[in-house]
Amino acid sequence: MFAMIGGKAMAASVSNLDRLGAMTRGAGSNQTHHYTARPMLSTATRQLIRTRLDAELGRIDKDAPARVALVYPSPYHVGMSSLGFQQIYAAIQALPGICCERVFLPDGGDEPGAKIETAVSYEGLKPLAEFSVMAVSVAYELELAGLCKLLEQSSTSPLREKRLENDPLVIAGGPLTFSNPIPLAAFADAIVMGEAEESIGPVMLIATSFASKAEKLQALSREPHVLVPSIHGEELPAMGRVDDSLLPAKSTILTPHTELSNMFLIEAERGCSRGCMYCVMRRSTNGGMRIVDPEVIFATVPAYAKKVGLVGAAVSDHPRIIDIVREFTTRGLQVGLSSLRPDRLKEPFVEALKKSGYKTLTTALDGPSQRLRDGIERRGRIEHYVAAAEYARKFGMERLKLYLMIGLPGETDEDIDECASFVSSLSKIIPVSLGLAPFCSKRNTPLDRMPFAGVRIVQKRLVRLRAGLRGRAEVRATSARWAWVEYVLAQGGEKEGRALYEAVQAGGTFSHYRKAFERLGFSPDGEGYGAASMPTSPEKLKMQGRRLHTLAPS
Ligand code: SF4
Repeated sequence: MFAMIGGKAMAASVSNLDRLGAMTRGAGSNQTHHYTARPMLSTATRQLIRTRLDAELGRIDKDAPARVALVYPSPYHVGMSSLGFQQIYAAIQALPGICCERVFLPDGGDEPGAKIETAVSYEGLKPLAEFSVMAVSVAYELELAGLCKLLEQSSTSPLREKRLENDPLVIAGGPLTFSNPIPLAAFADAIVMGEAEESIGPVMLIATSFASKAEKLQALSREPHVLVPSIHGEELPAMGRVDDSLLPAKSTILTPHTELSNMFLIEAERGCSRGCMYCVMRRSTNGGMRIVDPEVIFATVPAYAKKVGLVGAAVSDHPRIIDIVREFTTRGLQVGLSSLRPDRLKEPFVEALKKSGYKTLTTALDGPSQRLRDGIERRGRIEHYVAAAEYARKFGMERLKLYLMIGLPGETDEDIDECASFVSSLSKIIPVSLGLAPFCSKRNTPLDRMPFAGVRIVQKRLVRLRAGLRGRAEVRATSARWAWVEYVLAQGGEKEGRALYEAVQAGGTFSHYRKAFERLGFSPDGEGYGAASMPTSPEKLKMQGRRLHTLAPS
């Protein structure tokens, strides 16, 4: 749960006792769905886990009366790359009387339609169903399918109201709670909203020490940032925002088996001071940007680290980012940044990045045309991209990589043509790659409720863009179909969450999702997009205040 870059978890004090399912279930239980015998684990899986554990550096091996499952509903290499997941791991291991064992979606389980082996914890090879408490971190909408698979394979119903008294208590949190956690409410008994460093202690204490599930839920519902769907319905508590003294989040375990092999991650800032219209982490979220003192960053990175990843929603906006990159480079470390804003890519910064090991300069083009970039209030201008391309070439980088969205409100073929022409001109300076994602409007943003462009329209625009580029840039695009699934969930409520579960049960391919969502009246090429346009300035002002319905402050 609670995994976030900008919404992480940390410890609080807990003295506690536990009633772990592993010990209490089975004998004396009249509930037939609980495991009393451990499932067969394939030799290959056992070996894979052993190899990964052997390669880890920094794991906190701990024993305690209460053991909870810390669950990531994507495979190991994704979960262990999440700074927030690592932070909550460290936080639970710091609690008195309680410890955690990590459980990941088995490798390949995130492929559409893939079947999975029963998941077991890495530390104890214990089936998920043997834990009485699961703390789950959910980063984004499509990971809900992984959560359903994990629970189902553990003979535990994913639907919260179908779980019985002795079934695990499922507590979720993570980045998803910053936009729309309601589809998750179909599966979680409790949801910790926003940054969880200060919530995690009391939540774990309640989850492991009260006798009955009803008592636990009542107690959790009184916590300031916890949503208990069976009690609160869809009225959300205020988002957790921790004291700045708890920053920065940092890696606990280093492993070569992640996306960011053996890279020590540290938060250089949290939040953002900008106001991009589609972004959940914009300045109105949790007080905007919070900056970590460079001296604290230098002192926190351990001597054994060879690579450091500076993390934050807008990390290149850190006022001393160039000094930080240079200092780590002087110490002989390779440096990576989680994001680079185009207007920050001035000559000294690009030079510092090159010296720190960058071969590809990656930034966001955001929209296909200047008109649409202006519409979503991005500050990237043509001159920024041209300068970035020239500096990248000057300092010997190999490539410029640009991310952008297509299917923005009001987008036309002319916007796509402008993109093709502009990217072609950049490719004369340096080789260019494009990473495209269809626009999905998110709750808690000014563009909330903007319709999805439609799968066919997105695919047509992609064809047009490729044709216009005529091979002058490499193009990689995320699937328009799965973007539509993400959109339905991002805008949806519990019934959309339940429809996702139906799709997973039916087999989990796109066609299963389409059928499940069509029963709710959604269509991948739904109506409404044609009439949508980028909002005007007065409309934008009105939209700034859009929020999900929340509980009145008590
Ligand atoms: S897209 Fe990036 S720069 Fe814009 S508000 Fe979000 S985090 Fe900030």
